[in-house]
Amino acid sequence: VMAWDNHGRQSQWQEGIFETGRMGTPWGAKWIRTGQDTEACPVFEKEFHIGSPVKKARIYATAYGMYDIYINGSRAGESYFAPGQTSYQRRLQYQTYDITKLLQPGTNLISVTLAKGWCKGRYPFQKHSDFFGCPENSVLAELRWEDEAGAVTVLGTDKSWRCTSGPVLFSEIYDGETYDARLEQADKPSHAACEFDLGYDNLIAQQCEGVTVMERITPVALLTTPKGETVIDFGQNMVGWAQFTVTGCAGQEVVLSHAEVLDREGNFYTKNLRTAKQTVRYILKDGTQTYHPRFSFQGFRYVRVDQFPGQVDLSQFQGLVVYTKMEQTGWFHCSEPLVNQLFGNILWSQKGNFIDIPTDCPQRDERVGWTGDAQVFCQTAAINMKVSGFFNKWLGDLAADQTEEGATLIFVPSMQEFQTSSAWGDAATVCPWEIYIAYGDRRLLARQYPSMKAWVEYIRRQGENEFLWNTGFHFGDWLGLDAQQGSYQGATSEDLIATAFYAHSVELTQRAAEALGYTQDAADLKTLHQRIVAEFQREFITPAGRIGDQTQTAHVLALHFGLATDPARTANTLKKLLEKNKGKLTTGFVGTPYLCPALSEAGLSSLAYDLLLQQEFPSWLYSVNQGATTIWEHWDGIRPDGSFWSDAMNSFNHYAYGSIGAWMFRVMGGITPLLPGYQKIRIAPQIDRRISQVSAEIETSYGTVCSQWRIEGNKIHYSVTVPCNTTAELVFQNGTVHKIFSGTYHFSEQI
Ligand code: BGC
Repeated sequence: VMAWDNHGRQSQWQEGIFETGRMGTPWGAKWIRTGQDTEACPVFEKEFHIGSPVKKARIYATAYGMYDIYINGSRAGESYFAPGQTSYQRRLQYQTYDITKLLQPGTNLISVTLAKGWCKGRYPFQKHSDFFGCPENSVLAELRWEDEAGAVTVLGTDKSWRCTSGPVLFSEIYDGETYDARLEQADKPSHAACEFDLGYDNLIAQQCEGVTVMERITPVALLTTPKGETVIDFGQNMVGWAQFTVTGCAGQEVVLSHAEVLDREGNFYTKNLRTAKQTVRYILKDGTQTYHPRFSFQGFRYVRVDQFPGQVDLSQFQGLVVYTKMEQTGWFHCSEPLVNQLFGNILWSQKGNFIDIPTDCPQRDERVGWTGDAQVFCQTAAINMKVSGFFNKWLGDLAADQTEEGATLIFVPSMQEFQTSSAWGDAATVCPWEIYIAYGDRRLLARQYPSMKAWVEYIRRQGENEFLWNTGFHFGDWLGLDAQQGSYQGATSEDLIATAFYAHSVELTQRAAEALGYTQDAADLKTLHQRIVAEFQREFITPAGRIGDQTQTAHVLALHFGLATDPARTANTLKKLLEKNKGKLTTGFVGTPYLCPALSEAGLSSLAYDLLLQQEFPSWLYSVNQGATTIWEHWDGIRPDGSFWSDAMNSFNHYAYGSIGAWMFRVMGGITPLLPGYQKIRIAPQIDRRISQVSAEIETSYGTVCSQWRIEGNKIHYSVTVPCNTTAELVFQNGTVHKIFSGTYHFSEQI
């Protein structure tokens, strides 16, 4: 690749390589499994001989379960949790490993360890382990190497492979891992692997970056709790592993339990994990050794040391932060440290919940791809990090899991017997659209288009008339604070929410049809959208323009989705509703993402700033002041008196309310893409004197967009950077628009 500019300057040539997947090459390997019922993770091994030096070698591998590969004692690749979580029956990824450097002329040994993983592990929704309807844990691996003369040898899994039980005695996603290091070397009995014909039709090449160790953090404190327990504080609610180094004798044990928070008294608290045990047990061999799990992950800030040979020293522990290998692309900083901490918390909740699929939470016995959560956070996610590959993969599963009638399920990957709900199923339209806007990749939009259309057609068949969705089950404004005592569903009526999202989904599908040049579809969808809007207005708004549901969420949706008959009146009522509630929000999962955007669109950004800067419960900064280092599931996860709102459903790492992040970039920073992929950008910060300085930076596919402003006296100074091959309009507070091209600019405005 080489680039040049309008001044005739040229870059150096940059070399890169890419490699395709198997491109239909028939598999030279058979599916194998142990054939024995055991809790321990089996290891499949094969010794083989290489005659002459290897020029190039690859392994293509996958499993029903989770696997990793060692060649001559070295791990192949840097990823964990392969083959990833997908809609296995229809889409099972295989991975490609470059193992050229691991092979040597002479005798070589390949070992594949197979764990239950997501595919066969236990799920809370189904006690037994056939949640995904997968066959028994099995593995498929094919080695291919080429010598200097170009001769290719293929060696695949088959019944000639030996199977032993390895040192991983137990491993479950929720419950942790048990490892007996003494079994690493022991001469164990082995038996021949069993071959099975499980077919190859559902195999697809890896579709996104793998999960790997992305960061390492040093623990900050060694505590003795009031109960007398030894607890390590990692200073950050994180997801991954507490790696430790220990010296001792064979047979001694390390036992660690993981938790997100301490209770009011300062004791280790695990009730919010529900049945997830999050326990790591390690049995030592002789000497000094370092360990972390490989097939399970833990969500934690605190680790209780239940057993440890000798004195516990913090230097023996390290937090290995594990998530999909996404680069950070969004940076936000402003003059209010609490808001900066909030941004950091949003980022950490994204890291902790983007482990191969977008999950609701990473700690309790849930950790599934809830579509509603992904939908509300998607826009923020695509600003913070490069998630194009991540959503490319997950949306493939969303489409694959869609029912024959077109329903998108409440979580993906899933089983078709699970239901749908408005605002959850709408991930089918919202996510592809947001990813298209963020990265400008029409192929993904085109691929998802049939799924988007199937979803809106599904809704069309649900209502008592085709322009309303007023039937079936819905989660409603989940966790809204205006919910009746004992209910999780906010006060906004479910049919209002469902119909509002119906309109929204149809509108997004219409825009997708336009972008893809499907003119007839676009025209039909436009008509459909108009009819839904009219029906929404007839059903939920009085002729005089009053929204029937006097809730914040109803007003937010009507405004943001363009459904209000009298937007000025709706905005004014929203303002009054906020005033009535002492300037505080009541919104749940459905209303919160759009609350500040709707206020800003209505010219009420100062109210949005009020909400952002509010420090009392309920607010974003309330949790920050309570010491949160990630986003909480509930506004009152920890109450002002230090008690927990509940044990049953109280995650401290749930990104949904982190959706405020997009508003911070788009309104405080002012950066909005006007064309997909930020090819045209609007930079229109809406300032507020309570904040004296903001810096927002997004690394787009074209390069860095940066918007900085600071207030000095009666002047505001802007500094903006626009990437190559894009144009931007910078909008001043007084409405003046400056058209700018790539480069860095400094402007000042009198205020
Ligand atoms: C999850 C959510 C999810 C919800 C469905 C919860 O248990 O954690 O985030 O969207 O159920 O309403």
